[in-house]
Amino acid sequence: MTATKAPTPVARRAAAAMPSICDSERENLIGLRPDRPWPRVVDFPMPRIRDDADAAARGCLHADVMRALVIVDMLEDFVHGALANPRADSILDPLQRLLAYARSERWAIVFSNDAHEPGDPELAIWGPHAMAGTSGAEVVRELEPRPDAREFQCPKRAYGAFDGTDLDARLRALGVDEVVLTGQHTHICVRHTAYGALLRGYTIVVPSDAVCAFDGVDEEDALSYLQSVYGARVTTVAELMHRSSFRSRVGSRWPRRRPLARRTRAGHLFR
Ligand code: ZN
Repeated sequence: MTATKAPTPVARRAAAAMPSICDSERENLIGLRPDRPWPRVVDFPMPRIRDDADAAARGCLHADVMRALVIVDMLEDFVHGALANPRADSILDPLQRLLAYARSERWAIVFSNDAHEPGDPELAIWGPHAMAGTSGAEVVRELEPRPDAREFQCPKRAYGAFDGTDLDARLRALGVDEVVLTGQHTHICVRHTAYGALLRGYTIVVPSDAVCAFDGVDEEDALSYLQSVYGARVTTVAELMHRSSFRSRVGSRWPRRRPLARRTRAGHLFR
């Protein structure tokens, strides 16, 4: 048996000086409202998958849940209410189809939902919207979440789905290494979620017909930013479903990519 190589003094000092990105983000965000705890992932119980054998014993294959559909802010207030967006209606139908497909393909499904508390920083910019516990913070009827071990709602109080939430840990527990980002808005919350996904080493896919920016914002520019800055693969719902069907027909899996974060976690940046 080979002994684990001890880190050099330089590496130890660098690791000590570089706190976890997740922790520093959380502290910064919580620091804005120290009296109000940040929400945790809620709703449906999730299995803790320790390894492939454990997953198989639970009747699910670890490798089959490596993709997650993330639906950002498809909430009453964002579609019909306080921040209603005329473009949102146009993505409901493609999103419904993709959601049905993701369920049939046994992807993880995440509803990343604003659930604001009074005093949250962005309320000063947008005004009250999707306040926790109100009907405006509920997922629209067309995309209603279901009780399923691979499907959960993840409340947030900032733009990004990973900001101050347990999303990364939940996705890792399911073996997810690719996120399909959908919902609203391409240039704000989807964009910040893409940045969070990039930092944590996820492959990013964005179906252009399942996201939308505000009316008046150039959708192509918003998508181009995701592509050029975060390396997102911009595609369509139809193409995603076609490739998934092809995968099923040929009986093969997507090539499993080793996430960047897992590589870099051996170093200092994410340790
Ligand atoms: Zn918000």
